[in-house]
Amino acid sequence: MTVIKVTCPRCGDLDLMVWQLLGRRQETAAYYEFTCTSCEEDVLRPTDHVTIDRLAAAGVRVVADLGPLTPDFLAAATRYLKENDCLVADALTLDS
Ligand SMILES: [Zn+2]
Repeated sequence: MTVIKVTCPRCGDLDLMVWQLLGRRQETAAYYEFTCTSCEEDVLRPTDHVTIDRLAAAGVRVVADLGPLTPDFLAAATRYLKENDCLVADALTLDS
């Protein structure tokens, strides 16, 4: 099993298993998060895409983080669904 070395701001260095971390990939940023096994604080640490790729290769689950849902994003998603004849489009429409 691959062990990932991380640092809790309160407790210092920790050895975690891959399933104890979650990577978050955004368009211009990347993060990984874990719950400290000592103090049980949730820790979110910024990193780069190279590190996220390495974590993913090691077996860490990495999700695409699109950020908060904005009206622009919802409008674009609704437009896309309508243009592609998706039945769920009406459920997403905010102002009809
Ligand atoms: Zn800690």
